[in-house]
Amino acid sequence: MSVVTRFAPSPTGYLHVGGARTALYSWLYARSQGGKFVLRIEDTDIERSTEQAKQAILDGMQWLGLHHDEGPFYQTQRFDTYNQYIDQLLEKGLAYKCYMSSDELNAIREEQEKNGEKPRYPGTWRDRTDYPENQPYAIRFKNPKEGEVVFKDHVRGEIHISNSELDDLVIRRSDGAPTYNFCVVIDDWEMGITHVVRGEDHINNTPRQINILQALGAPVPEYAHVSMILGDDGKKLSKRHGAVSVMQYRDDGFLPQAVLNYLVRLGWSHGDQEIFSLNEMIEHFSLDHISKSASAFNTEKLVWLNQHYMKTEPASDVAKHALWHFQEQGIDINNGPSLEQVIAVQAERVDTLKELAEISRYFYEDFAEFDANAAKKHLRPVAKENLIAVRDALAAMNEWSAHNIQQTINATAEKLGVGMGKVGMPLRVAVTGSGNSPSLDVTLELLDQSTVEQRINKAIEFIEKRENS
Ligand code: GLU
Repeated sequence: MSVVTRFAPSPTGYLHVGGARTALYSWLYARSQGGKFVLRIEDTDIERSTEQAKQAILDGMQWLGLHHDEGPFYQTQRFDTYNQYIDQLLEKGLAYKCYMSSDELNAIREEQEKNGEKPRYPGTWRDRTDYPENQPYAIRFKNPKEGEVVFKDHVRGEIHISNSELDDLVIRRSDGAPTYNFCVVIDDWEMGITHVVRGEDHINNTPRQINILQALGAPVPEYAHVSMILGDDGKKLSKRHGAVSVMQYRDDGFLPQAVLNYLVRLGWSHGDQEIFSLNEMIEHFSLDHISKSASAFNTEKLVWLNQHYMKTEPASDVAKHALWHFQEQGIDINNGPSLEQVIAVQAERVDTLKELAEISRYFYEDFAEFDANAAKKHLRPVAKENLIAVRDALAAMNEWSAHNIQQTINATAEKLGVGMGKVGMPLRVAVTGSGNSPSLDVTLELLDQSTVEQRINKAIEFIEKRENS
């Protein structure tokens, strides 16, 4: 059997963390089995579905790299198909017309609630044929009355639901629109889905969907219902916890690989391994090792993974994602070192790509001001002579390399008879604007020789102004 999985989001908001994890598990299972992954947009709730949300889902999937083999399919474009199957069920007597008005139905529900019963449709029209003329009607599925539905869930084990708990589901509303559960069933069947991976909030739909599949003579897929995600504080993950939209993680400076690694471990394990390359995830992933209990979000761990991947992913990949942040922050990277070079020296100093861009601006632009504290401490009159000496020595260098730069700085300190810090710190503040930077040799190497000279001159002017004020 060749495996086909799907991700079937409703486009009512952005792609959130829970959805992304479901998508990842579904995608991984397809990849691990050499199967196919289908993307299906469940947009039948026309009032709540938006174009923006559809795009946000596609963008999120694209950013994560969870590419689909088929789709995206849109349910609103498939109404004719659903209706054909509904007509078939009607003809076969497996579905029926129900003329109960919503007022009548509400009255029944109220009565049931008053008696402490679960509200359910009592099957009033199931066997009736005295249809009124010109009255609106819904179509209901004839759910079996006897027996039970049994399915083996990969996460929760064997589940039994008695048919006596299920009422006859509306499959086409009186306005002619097929209903959600019915569309899912037809799609899963027509798209050849063999494994349904979805949130546990859908587990109550599963027995109803299985009954409809069986009535249609369709094969029943396997199921894996994935538990919820809780926030750092143990409450259901929501906007309060900061980023819940996947794209917010991009905006905050996370690498997709870090987010994927984070998500895969949020409810799935392989021994005690924490770091998984994409290939390792695909190799080891199994639906049977998804955890039954809710998983708690842990921002620190996500940051830790991001740091790991900023340092270990191929620099060209990191650069591709970092570029977005430099552009976002209006930094023109054409005048300066390559992003790969900057990443090599800066990645270990930050948590995110956003911060990386923030602290790397000086490689591409002159800064307007020195950091006040650093200037106060290091650009003092006593530093002027040292800056002049190191400026001249650096300007006289022939081959601009980290090694030679280091030697020049050392030689200058020696000649002046001062410690390295007395030359190095003013120099650092002069060229980077602050007291924090990677080691001076590589920092200066990435800035060209004339830029270094100009910036030292600016620092000297700054000191002179200070002397005169
Ligand atoms: N459209 C549903 C949702 O977004 C998922 C349905 C399913 O996976 O069967 O929650």
